[in-house]
Amino acid sequence: MKIIDWILDFLFPTRCPRCHEFVSKSKMWHEKCLLETILIHSTKIESSLAISKYRGGTRELITDLKFNGRKSRVKVIEILLERAFESSNILQKFISKPNLIAVPVPIHPEREKLRGFNQADLIFRNWLKLHGVEMQCLLKRVVETAPSFKLNAEERMKNISGAFELDGDVNGKSILLVDDILTTGTTVMECSRILKLGGAKSIRILVLASDY
Ligand SMILES: [Zn+2]
Repeated sequence: MKIIDWILDFLFPTRCPRCHEFVSKSKMWHEKCLLETILIHSTKIESSLAISKYRGGTRELITDLKFNGRKSRVKVIEILLERAFESSNILQKFISKPNLIAVPVPIHPEREKLRGFNQADLIFRNWLKLHGVEMQCLLKRVVETAPSFKLNAEERMKNISGAFELDGDVNGKSILLVDDILTTGTTVMECSRILKLGGAKSIRILVLASDY
């Protein structure tokens, strides 16, 4: 370990996002905790893949990023993504389709202004670029909808219908739609519908976490 790392560790100890014990700043995760957090699975939505469950380390990282504005958590998430990639042929194949373009699920501009970033974009942009997939913001959110936890499936679809519009040309393109969490899937389904209307050739969905 370099002296500077040792000093930084001493001054600002890093805690593992899963077990909250101290961990070296250069690793950011305990090996065991990192491996336990990665749980690549498909969700109930067609052509989708989630990197982990929405609990433990991942839940904490997403909450810290979105609601406490801790952008530095992205580095910890990127370590998780890269380890998931190294360990999973399924994930490797999923993002290595030729000419794949990543599109983040957009948040409303007002909310983005308040938060300072779109978490879906921030989580995936650098890591996907590393693997040859460029991010393009080809969707925009035009309506901010009320939270939909209490609604049933049909009401949720109605609630989100019309919330998104195209923000660029998607005709004939292969899209990798990315988001932080997939809960009921209505958001990504509505985004997919808009992308298909715009002529997207194929749509895959990649999320950091899902219990769905
Ligand atoms: Zn740990």
